[in-house]
Amino acid sequence: MADCIFCKIAGHEIPSEVVYEDDAVIAFRDLNPQAPVHVLIVPKRHIDGVNAFVPADKVVVGHILVDVAPKIARQLEISESGYRLVINTGKQGGQTVDHLHVHLLGGRDMTWPPG
Ligand code: AMP
Repeated sequence: MADCIFCKIAGHEIPSEVVYEDDAVIAFRDLNPQAPVHVLIVPKRHIDGVNAFVPADKVVVGHILVDVAPKIARQLEISESGYRLVINTGKQGGQTVDHLHVHLLGGRDMTWPPG
């Protein structure tokens, strides 16, 4: 999608610190990390966010949650210590980029609820 920053990252049009990539997904370090490990896992195909899901998105969302997130957690050695997966949705949910992304946060104790 034109003017979507995460589409541009997925297409390698703008640089990012990629930690994982396959045909469907790219994962890269957050520019403004909120934890020692803060990675964004993003489907390459543009999806606005959770409210825009259609049934076919189950495949890529399932891939992100079942395959990719735990793989990156192992790769970055936070699997055993623990981590948090977050999907901000809409304005009050704190979503600032309208391309679905799963935050993977770890490397410190998390507080609850998030502020
Ligand atoms: P959210 O507020 O849930 O929509 O998350 C958007 C995230 O994208 C924020 O944590 C930003 O720091 C991050 N972000 C924005 N632009 C970039 C970029 N070019 N590279 C890496 N992370 C980015």
